[in-house]
Amino acid sequence: MPLKIHHLNCATLNPLIGQMVCHCLLIESPEGLMLVDTGLGTKDIEYPKKRLDKTFRSFVKPKLEMQETALSQIQKMGYVASDIKHIVLTHLHADHAGGLSDFPKAKIHILRYEYDNVYNNENPLPGYSLQQFKHETNWCIHDIYGEKWNGFNKSNILDKNEEILLVPLRGHTSGHCGVAILTDKGWLFHCGDAYYHRDTIKKNPSETPFGIRLIQYFIDFNSDDRRKNQNRLQQFYNASKDQVRFICSHDPIEFNACINGNNPNHC
Ligand SMILES: [Zn+2]
Ligand SMILES: [Zn+2]
Repeated sequence: MPLKIHHLNCATLNPLIGQMVCHCLLIESPEGLMLVDTGLGTKDIEYPKKRLDKTFRSFVKPKLEMQETALSQIQKMGYVASDIKHIVLTHLHADHAGGLSDFPKAKIHILRYEYDNVYNNENPLPGYSLQQFKHETNWCIHDIYGEKWNGFNKSNILDKNEEILLVPLRGHTSGHCGVAILTDKGWLFHCGDAYYHRDTIKKNPSETPFGIRLIQYFIDFNSDDRRKNQNRLQQFYNASKDQVRFICSHDPIEFNACINGNNPNHC
């Protein structure tokens, strides 16, 4: 049965190149409520110096508003933290994983490469905040298996359920993923940080605004893989824009289109 989706901005960021959102999803799934990414959490807002490193605070400049946290937003909708049964993460960067500690009972779904990069790596790369996963966490580590989804590898989040898929899009981080969801309006493909600006896939990766290209390059785990996947996404967008809606984590125009429901190519 198609799934119902709510779009949440779980942190406003203010880097020099312009304001960004942290576009997360709340899914009403047959196994309870599910989040795709968490943005910043209540502890990040309360203790920013402890939880977020200085580079992140100075260059990304998060707004740090309690009401933007996923916990605060679901509470306003009448839910409690324990109603969130699953969290699917595109990757573990601080602006995506900060809310994990607000939902300690949820199962956290992640690709094995991303988990290993943080936990089995003597020198985790910048961008991660180990403080955010110090609590007891119920990890559900995924390997790739089964049939492909539109030519992309995938892993089913819920065992045999083919409606919520983890889709590896390596490059931004070693285990970065998109999340494909079959909604009541067709497939929605949340591409996380695989791209930052709609023009990357709707026009061409070379038409990504210059400031964003610079940021992508400096954050990349592997720039060749990131470029390869952006090209694949652009081709996939051109081939399927009537059937699949694409979003990324940080583009405010895409987010507003989803909230307003006025752009069929978005949400
Ligand atoms: Zn990231
Ligand atoms: Zn991000």
